[in-house]
Amino acid sequence: MDTIADVWKEVLAVCSKKVSEPIYKMWIAPLELVKFEKNTFIFVIGSEFKKSIIMDQFSGIIKDAFEEVMGFPVEIDIFVNGAVTQEEEKKPETTDAKSDLGGGLRQYTFDNFIVGKSNNFAYNVSLGVAEHPGSLYNPLLIYGRSGLGKTHLLFAIYNRLKENNPDKVIIYVTGESFMNELVVDLKNHNTIAFHEKYRNVDALLVDDIQFIQRGASVQEEFFHTFNALEQAGKQIVITSDVPPREMEILDERLRTRFEMGIIADIQPPDIDTRKAIILRKCEQLDITLPDAVVDLIAQKIKNNVRQIEGTVKKISAMMNAYSRTVTVEQVQDIIKDITTDNQPTAVVVKKIIEFVAKSFGVTANDILSDNRQSNIALARQLCMYVIKEVTDLKLNEIGKYFNKNHSTVLHSIAQAKEKMDKNPSVKAAAVSAINEFQTKNN
Ligand code: ADP
Ligand code: MG
Repeated sequence: MDTIADVWKEVLAVCSKKVSEPIYKMWIAPLELVKFEKNTFIFVIGSEFKKSIIMDQFSGIIKDAFEEVMGFPVEIDIFVNGAVTQEEEKKPETTDAKSDLGGGLRQYTFDNFIVGKSNNFAYNVSLGVAEHPGSLYNPLLIYGRSGLGKTHLLFAIYNRLKENNPDKVIIYVTGESFMNELVVDLKNHNTIAFHEKYRNVDALLVDDIQFIQRGASVQEEFFHTFNALEQAGKQIVITSDVPPREMEILDERLRTRFEMGIIADIQPPDIDTRKAIILRKCEQLDITLPDAVVDLIAQKIKNNVRQIEGTVKKISAMMNAYSRTVTVEQVQDIIKDITTDNQPTAVVVKKIIEFVAKSFGVTANDILSDNRQSNIALARQLCMYVIKEVTDLKLNEIGKYFNKNHSTVLHSIAQAKEKMDKNPSVKAAAVSAINEFQTKNN
């Protein structure tokens, strides 16, 4: 137990045994530990409502758990993060003319999007689509890794389209819920409502299409929807976290169609863009950060704007709670868990294992054991795959962490890839782990 993060991990483990899993997941796990000061552990949470529930109902359990882990009683305190919380930010499943956007999404506008080399093309074609739907660039596919602004641009298009054409029907839908809706209707042999809904829109915006699972009937239906809309000159915009050629989920016909339209990729922002993003977020949160702090964040968090934003929000919550200032050291402490550069590879490997373990609901020890239970074995294979992608380790070096030889690692990685191809949620787990730890590209 070297850091407060270690303590918190143990406290979480104790709490998870004391309350039911849904309660734990909903009320305790989302607490973000900021620091320990004057015998008080300080957390940030997204809303006043959550804070009051946690303080009323669960602070006793949490404090007891701290005492169990630390050996002496401590206090806890929670601050509300002023900005939009993750929960509130959660995109609605579908959005159409009838339902208005939540407050959080209304701020996803073109004006709030910082443009740099890495996203300038995607920004411009998105703007083109929003101003001239169905004519300039159709279909438009935006792709880029997680946290680089795809959903932001899609909503900017949505917001602008609504603004210019209040009476038009514009649907925002995630690939996943599009698929779920369709699967239910196909099962009930009732695709009429589905056709009505999706073939009569003026613009269809599908976010994270990688979650549309393979399956002939879903593909078929998607293809027909796509065709019907395209022939009627309606705008289609799709986002994905992989380029079309790697979209194994799409059948060849669809892939070709996308390739005939416009494909815009978003790359991780360069340092100047990162700085501009930080400054814009500060402006929105009404805080001023010392130049050295802005530089530090911009230098350290390279591949994910969501993480940059999260860091600024955390700092803002801390500044509002304590003082109006923040030091480089404090910020170093806040970001050390999300940056992996400068860290020894062994630390990165350990973090990857912990990260993957968490997404599979197993422990790091399970992964490092010989347990062959299928979900543990899969988590282990995925770890090896992610480590191979993210670090420069050779197969035999990876093997050392798992007590396996070179050819076992090779085989495991092949297995991981196969399972990722078959199962989008496995793929999503791998993609999010890679995004979390990717540092090679910068
Ligand atoms: P993705 O959908 O690609 O995973 P999001 O669009 O959800 O990423 O972006 C993550 C967060 O980062 C959002 O809050 C978004 O507003 C912000 N963001 C991303 N790119 C930019 C940018 N260029 N300028 C301002 N904010 C950005
Ligand atoms: Mg997104």
